[in-house]
Amino acid sequence: MRPAPESAPGGAAGLSGARARMDYLPVFLRLDGRPALIVGGGRVAARKVAWLVRAGARVTVVAPGMHTDLEACINRAECAHLQRGFEPGQLAGMALVVAATDDRAVNVAVSDAARQRNIPVNVVDSPELSTFIFPAIIDRSPILVAVSSAGAAPVLARRVREQIEALLPARLGRLARFMGERRGDVQKALGFLARRAFWERIVTGATATRVLAGNEAGAASAFASELRTSQLTSCATGASGSGEVYLIGSGPGDPDLLTLRALQLLQQADVILYDRLVPDAILERARRDAERIAVGKEVGDRTQQQRIHQLLLQFAAAGKRVARLKGGDPFVFGRGGEEIELLAAHNIPYIVVPGITAALAAAACAEIPLTHRRLAHSVTFVTGHAVGDTQLDWQALAALHHTVVFYMGLAQLPAIVARLRAAGARADHPAAVIERAALPGQRVLRAELQHIAALAAGEQVAPPALLIVGAVAAFSAADALPRLAAPLSAKVTNPPAEALA
Ligand code: SAH
Repeated sequence: MRPAPESAPGGAAGLSGARARMDYLPVFLRLDGRPALIVGGGRVAARKVAWLVRAGARVTVVAPGMHTDLEACINRAECAHLQRGFEPGQLAGMALVVAATDDRAVNVAVSDAARQRNIPVNVVDSPELSTFIFPAIIDRSPILVAVSSAGAAPVLARRVREQIEALLPARLGRLARFMGERRGDVQKALGFLARRAFWERIVTGATATRVLAGNEAGAASAFASELRTSQLTSCATGASGSGEVYLIGSGPGDPDLLTLRALQLLQQADVILYDRLVPDAILERARRDAERIAVGKEVGDRTQQQRIHQLLLQFAAAGKRVARLKGGDPFVFGRGGEEIELLAAHNIPYIVVPGITAALAAAACAEIPLTHRRLAHSVTFVTGHAVGDTQLDWQALAALHHTVVFYMGLAQLPAIVARLRAAGARADHPAAVIERAALPGQRVLRAELQHIAALAAGEQVAPPALLIVGAVAAFSAADALPRLAAPLSAKVTNPPAEALA
């Protein structure tokens, strides 16, 4: 393939100036122990002082009056206070100056005096008076991300920061320090080319995953074994290290209900093994080049779990990062337990990421609280397949003030109803079926237990759906208001007025 002419390094898009000019050069300033002046004593000044103090600057605030936040900072001896107006002489020796007053004349005076002395100056909300600006900051020290709109749209810059913030694991700084602490060891152990390949494997493999999940002991042993392997094998070739598996709960199907960790790991996986309950909208969040393999089970399919086990082992052995995506939570009717038994037996590193299980999603979407101080103090999750299970305490499940959520119960609906009725549930025991919770086309059907199966059949409810039984299934937030305003009935033991407070 011939490269396009403009893709040559240093070509048209390079140094020749074809790109738009940058309004500012982003740099990181070392201020540790250096003097900085803030003119102004209000809330905005207090925010700037807080950043400068975090960066280790020796801050002096010039202002006749003080915001309480600044008073606290002065009391903690984090900054000094000159209780007077601004005078240019105060700039002597300063590494930088910030003007944050609401008096334009003072701000202009600060700007002029600083420029004359070549001291970097920022005037809050006045890019034209400033020689530097404060970016929106993401602080995962020592990793820092600074976002700027060059003063054109600060709100947009903050929004960009929020979006990046959501993508960056909370323990990213910890990972950077973990790596920093081991640089010397690696330098001694590996040659130049091998080092780079080694660090690539560290940031994309089991070591990083574990640090980011807060398991530093596990990370340290993964690191040590990776280093040993690297010393033994020729690392200059970038030979792949050991693979790992992310057992990820993907929630009820709405991508916005993924956890941040699920999203982060999904975006680094090389291979994705996904269940039938995982929709395209979630798979689209994975890397474009990741291999996607559907491993959904048909009812009664007994061989599929074996195939899943085979694939997990095969890809991990090939050094791949495998995301095993399961609907809801991996440990709620998800066979996640069996999969980690397998991985542990084969010494394959794995991590389990919880997801919003269908019961919680359905309850939230249908506005049925699973527990409620007046209606239920306990909840049980049961699989519909358990309808013939004599070990289950059906009498407890049939109690009005206990909530039961049946997963996979659609086909067994009449049998479940009969079982609960036989165990003492009344004909008018409240019940609800939630179809496609948190997915397009979601439906909530409520009825007395005696009618719920007929209603679901009549409405042609299809999987995925689940059944909630118990007093909470008749709950309606709107109905509760007049009831709460009325005098309390003798049966209510927890005063509902408190619930509203
Ligand atoms: N591990 C999953 C459950 C797998 S069992 C979890 O934690 O949610 C599959 C059953 O979950 C389905 O038969 C259905 O009863 C329920 N379910 C899963 N997603 C659902 C959804 N979006 N709406 C309603 N029920 C759902």
